[in-house]
Amino acid sequence: MNDQLDDMYREVILDHYRAPRGSKPIEHIDLTSEGKNPSCGDEIALTVAMDDGRVQDIHIDCHGCAISTASASMLAEYIKGKTLDDAIRIADIVKKMLKGEDVVIPDDYDDLEALKGVRNFPVRIKCALLAWMTLIEGLKNYKAGLDAKHVTSVSTEDKE
Ligand code: ZN
Repeated sequence: MNDQLDDMYREVILDHYRAPRGSKPIEHIDLTSEGKNPSCGDEIALTVAMDDGRVQDIHIDCHGCAISTASASMLAEYIKGKTLDDAIRIADIVKKMLKGEDVVIPDDYDDLEALKGVRNFPVRIKCALLAWMTLIEGLKNYKAGLDAKHVTSVSTEDKE
């Protein structure tokens, strides 16, 4: 963890890192998406249960650095309960924010601003991006009607 991260943001990230949300495995799985970030060695496996068009539950198995783990935990916290389209929309906002685009973070999602600090450390941006990219591709495949047995595979090195 870098000392230059703003104190408040660092607290948010450390809190998620120490007690990652979404760590409890789920029984019913509608989609599985796996992601890796070769530049750091972070790996993530994400499973989601959908119910009536919403993300009912989400499990994240993350083996990676503090930033990738904290970012995945934030994802679990913010995406749970969202509709499929809202989940994709929010993940896309975070992805754009991390890539340096000017985006408006919705009021209810203040903590996500903490991830913005990561932009000051280019080498960590992909760590923070990993979970969101993995979720977006998984949800898109689900939306496209791919079978629940299909495992989406994502790399932060993938072209857009
Ligand atoms: Zn990392």
